[in-house]
Amino acid sequence: MLTGIQIAVIGGDARQLEVVKKLTELDAKLWLIGFEQLDHAFSGAVKEKIEDVDFSEIDGIILPVPGTNTEGKVETIFSGENVYLTEEILASTPAHCTVYSGISNKYLDSITTNTNRKLVQLFERDDVAIYNSIPTVEGTIMMAIQHTDFTIHGSKVSVLGLGRVGMSVARTFHALGAKVTVGARKSEHLARITEMGLEPFHLDDLSESIKDTDICINTIPYQIVTAAVIAKMPAHTLIIDLASKPGGTDFRYAEKRGIKALLAPGLPGIVAPKTAGKILANVLSQLLQEDLKQRKGKTI
Ligand code: NAP
Repeated sequence: MLTGIQIAVIGGDARQLEVVKKLTELDAKLWLIGFEQLDHAFSGAVKEKIEDVDFSEIDGIILPVPGTNTEGKVETIFSGENVYLTEEILASTPAHCTVYSGISNKYLDSITTNTNRKLVQLFERDDVAIYNSIPTVEGTIMMAIQHTDFTIHGSKVSVLGLGRVGMSVARTFHALGAKVTVGARKSEHLARITEMGLEPFHLDDLSESIKDTDICINTIPYQIVTAAVIAKMPAHTLIIDLASKPGGTDFRYAEKRGIKALLAPGLPGIVAPKTAGKILANVLSQLLQEDLKQRKGKTI
């Protein structure tokens, strides 16, 4: 349980509602900042303006998946007002106050470092990335269906990268009957691809390997689908780039060649906000409970 714990939830989208639901069930006291336009009420959670929250009592701050922008502004889809997380606010929190965010940037790194507050990036965790790969794959399937006039079954799908997303994508498209090839650069990844019953290729041979591909799904956050690679693809190839912005595709050249290339960020929040929210809520409740246990241990 999280009885006695006070948490500021700043901004976010539908995913954050699952977090609020879970934490209030665990008896935490929540301050919801940037939620004025939300109709729903949660017992144990109070909607408040950021300037009216007493941060000296706050044990944890939960930011939405993108964290803040480079000026400290937090995305708030349930509010018409701008909300900023500043160094001054963090400095007014107790020393043990932890900031939880999906990802970070220079601004968030700098204000947490300057105030000596712990920052937890949830999306750096393997468990979150693997759970999140499930709705990501479902969103990828949706895009493949929407943007092609052929079935996934029987088509040639080239997956680039065998990380947490790449592995789930490759396995699922294979299960749907696609002929899946997977490109990687590490010998152990090539071995794993073979073990999975898929066809491996080294990324050095990418241009050759995508010559007859119908759908190319990139998960590598690095310029990998270059103009030279796109030039070798059949004209009907669909590129779905899942890598974080700006993706790994030369979109300018793809457009010039008339190849459909789609950058598809944030699929879990789009296709399954409830599940994506539950993934975050589960890991956050676990982390907050561990934190509380540790602090209680220290004071005994
Ligand atoms: P990951 O586990 O770190 O996997 C990344 C893969 O890219 C690994 O196979 C890695 O291979 C490869 N890679 C990285 N840099 C490379 C380079 N310079 N050359 C060749 N290969 C390289 O990451 P992930 O969790 O699978 O996520 C992949 C991407 O998808 C990330 O950008 C993530 O932000 C994004 N993502 C998008 C969505 C969405 O909705 N679109 C959802 C979740 C995640 P090595 O091991 O050889 O480095």
